[in-house]
Amino acid sequence: MAASPMTYDYIIAGAGAAGLSLVCHLLGHQNLQSKRILLLDRDLKQTNDRTWCFWETGQSPFESCLKSQWAKLHFHSPAFSALLDISPYRYKMLDSLSFYQHCFELIKRFPNVEFRQDELLALEPSGLVRGKQAVYQAAYVFNSVLFQIPKLPQKHYLVQHFKGVFIKTAAPAFNPEEPTLMDFRVAQHQDCRFMYVLPINAYEALVEYTGFSEAALAPEAYDQELQAYLRDFLGITQYEITHEEFGIIPMTDAPFSKGSGRVVNIGTAGGATKASTGYTFSFIQRQCAAIAKNQAQGKKPLAGSKAALHKFAFYDSVFLRVLLEKKQEPWRVFHDMFSKLPASLILKFLNEETHLLEDLRIMNAVEKNIFLPAVFRQALAR
Ligand SMILES: Cc1cc2nc3c(=O)[nH]c(=O)nc-3n(C[C@H](O)[C@H](O)[C@H](O)COP(=O)(O)OP(=O)(O)OC[C@H]3O[C@@H](n4cnc5c(N)ncnc54)[C@H](O)[C@@H]3O)c2cc1C
Repeated sequence: MAASPMTYDYIIAGAGAAGLSLVCHLLGHQNLQSKRILLLDRDLKQTNDRTWCFWETGQSPFESCLKSQWAKLHFHSPAFSALLDISPYRYKMLDSLSFYQHCFELIKRFPNVEFRQDELLALEPSGLVRGKQAVYQAAYVFNSVLFQIPKLPQKHYLVQHFKGVFIKTAAPAFNPEEPTLMDFRVAQHQDCRFMYVLPINAYEALVEYTGFSEAALAPEAYDQELQAYLRDFLGITQYEITHEEFGIIPMTDAPFSKGSGRVVNIGTAGGATKASTGYTFSFIQRQCAAIAKNQAQGKKPLAGSKAALHKFAFYDSVFLRVLLEKKQEPWRVFHDMFSKLPASLILKFLNEETHLLEDLRIMNAVEKNIFLPAVFRQALAR
């Protein structure tokens, strides 16, 4: 006879950004602190496997894990360069290992929260989770592991692909107060490519080469571009690479499944990645905070969550359409916004915090001959 499944109130399938954020948000509510929670991942989460950046006006629940934060950002296009004040926002950088350690420290204080290393094989709407080692059951399963990006006609599919290197120089090479959000002065190769520089101190920085396109590049292309940028734009030829990261993030307006039955998708699996930018971390925080609040109030996890077709989803679709149609060089979209508008307004818009009048200011800044037909075609395609 098969062993009966281990039962829990919540199973959190995947202990990455979303899974661990959700545990922290759930445990932030007193009436959820005695829930039996199982966290499952195939990995022990003991390495620094990515760096998360995001911006916000207040304090993050993970403030103590931040590696750095900044009040100003450089923007460069072939025709405009400026150091932009982003107040009231701060641009923040979090290394994943500090985040994992912080979350596991919190979890240790709750004997009713258990972590198990297991490879997940299947999730069933009944709340049954099949792992390689065992079978588990919960009232709700929060899944950031098993999902597929829906392939639908009329939807746009791009990826944000990037390679970042943490470098260390012998002589001071960076102003730690002045990161670069986007530098479009690099060769565009009929594409959308930029550099991103986040200095941690005068000697160390994360320098990342990023593209928005239909496919990633050959691995050596990132290295060549990074070397050329360090040499030609930053004047750095002698450096040590202390850490590297590579990522591919989906940029699509295809709707991700919210889950079914007792399974609720979270994180990238739950559609938290913003289609037009790839930024996910702050949207994960909103998603997890809302789920935890709903549960604390005795509501279903996704009660009151916005309908899929909200205005920002439409703007994202239009932007992806413009990128794919290539009727304008993509850097010009960012150039038009950053050269005409306060950076804080652009960040507010990209964080989906603007109201309609502010959205209209953004729309007024971009090239209308390009965007208006794209808006029209996008509206017809829905
Ligand atoms: C290198 C990189 C850098 C990024 N930088 C940023 C950034 O600066 N800002 C931002 O907003 N977003 C960024 N993102 C996008 C996004 O924030 C991250 O991908 C984020 O980690 C997504 O969180 P998640 O919980 O959905 O997925 P993950 O954090 O990837 O968590 C999924 C978890 O599932 C586990 N898992 C997978 N398959 C199985 C299985 N079969 N069985 C058991 N466990 C499994 C994995 O080990 C992992 O722990 C970045 C992404 C990458 C890849």
